[in-house]
This record gives sequence, structure tokens and C-alpha cells, in this order.
Amino acid sequence: MKVCLDPGHGGKDRANRGPSGYIEADGVLDIALRVKELLVKKGIEVVITRDKDETVSLAKRVAIADGNKADILVSIHSNAGPPQARGVETFYSAFSKQGKALAKEIQIRLVGLGLKDRGIKIRLGKNGADYYYMIRNPKAVSVITEVGFHTNPEEEKLLKTASFRQKAAQAIANGIIAFSR
Ligand SMILES: [Zn+2]
Repeated sequence: MKVCLDPGHGGKDRANRGPSGYIEADGVLDIALRVKELLVKKGIEVVITRDKDETVSLAKRVAIADGNKADILVSIHSNAGPPQARGVETFYSAFSKQGKALAKEIQIRLVGLGLKDRGIKIRLGKNGADYYYMIRNPKAVSVITEVGFHTNPEEEKLLKTASFRQKAAQAIANGIIAFSR
């Protein structure tokens, strides 16, 4: 099994921030690098769409996953909304049972960290296809996981800590491993 990890944003795309200085591009890169380390330790092959702060187009991200024949793609983000919005949600393709299964395995473990369960979700565009590019286009079984809201002051505080990012990474890695069994 080969896993592609996709830390969202980066480079020119660093605008998503929390009220006290958290930057999504950096937070999700740190989590993704931790997931990579955990999976590699388990002997799982991992490719990553960026391993530093750089601009990578969505098309390039898909090309990296497809070019490396990834079986699974996990796009890692933190969420934005009104200040009171909080919790974890994971998106999957409406047309993939495997995607739903992968989303479930990751979601349940992130919720296990004590975060509100917003559920696993699909989102369709007007044309009836999956709305999100990173779910619609890769050949891999693809999910987007939103590991809390950086716009919520309490969750931003968590997202800023290495200990939470390590726990979130472990949850995502364990979800991927559970799915692959
Ligand atoms: Zn994002």
C-alpha cells in the first residue's frame, strides 16, 4: 500500500489564520510530516505533496498522487467558520465505499481526542460530481480531514501545540492503518 499525504495550502496560500497567529498552511504541514514519520516507521510507503512551505497547485498535488500510484490520499486541513464553530469533519467521495470507510476510520480516531464529532460528509457540486477537487480527481481513495477549527479560540490553542499535532497525527496514521487491514 502506498499513501499520499497532502498538507493543504502553503507558499502563496497562507491566508487562513486563527485569531492568535496560527497559520493553517504551517499547522497542517507539521501534522502531515508527523503522520509520514509514523507510517514510515510501520513500513508503509508514503509520498507527500509538499514537505516545506511552498506553492503547489491542486493539479500538481493530484499528479504527485497519481504519478506515484498512491492507493490512499489524505488531504489534511484545519477548518474555518464563526468563532463558536468547532470539531472534526472528514469528507469523502459520494461514489466511493472505500472512501467512506477510510473517512470513518480517521474521523473516529480524531474524535477520540476529545473533539466534537461533526461527522463524515460528502459534498456535491451543481453538476452532481464531488465538489472538492482533491476528492474528485485523484485515482487514489481520497479524503479531506479537517482537524478542528483554527477560527475557534480554544481549538486554535490546541492546534498551536506540538502535543496536539502529534496526537492528531497518530489518530490519522492509525485510521489509515486500520483502513488498510
Ligand atoms: Zn484548508
